Amino acid sequence: MSINQGWWKAARCVPSPNRDARPNHEVSLLVLHAICLPPGEFGGADIERLFTNRLDPDAHPYFKAVAKLRVSAHLLIRRDGESVQFVPFEARAWHAGRSRWCDSGWPRSALNDFSIGIELEGDEHTPFTEAQYHSLAEVTLRLMEHYPMINQRRITSHARVAPLRKIDPGPTFDWAYFRQQLNNPVRQTSHQA
Ligand SMILES: [Zn+2]
Repeated sequence: MSINQGWWKAARCVPSPNRDARPNHEVSLLVLHAICLPPGEFGGADIERLFTNRLDPDAHPYFKAVAKLRVSAHLLIRRDGESVQFVPFEARAWHAGRSRWCDSGWPRSALNDFSIGIELEGDEHTPFTEAQYHSLAEVTLRLMEHYPMINQRRITSHARVAPLRKIDPGPTFDWAYFRQQLNNPVRQTSHQA
């Protein structure tokens, strides 16, 4: 089984303290994000530092504003496709902020309560990598198996659930290509080693 007690076995584990218990056990929505730190730069360990409250506010002018945030996501998918997991899926990660979702006409807020947050390392200008789409499709298929309330209609973006505040993962994210990979998964095993 590739998800064990909320941890995805293919991911490198970097536990974040920025988590708490889900108020009920519902896990029914997947929210996709994009992040890079510093802005416009890929690689490095600053995203991991941010999600574990170890970002040095003096290391870059941008960091002063964000170093004190207490945020996290369940997973980060790096440019090379590597997955890093910060919070077990059973716990509540702090990724969505003020946000809303509608279930059959029933408006809901507090999306962290029932969603999984996946960050793709990237920005709104640069296409995401093939390796990222592959890893994202792989983990999404596992999540849909493991948490049957998540289906393709319940995969959304931070931009869609927080429309006036957020734009991620942004216009460079190719939803059609991602959904095609979900429907016709290419079974590669190299990322699962
Ligand atoms: Zn986001």
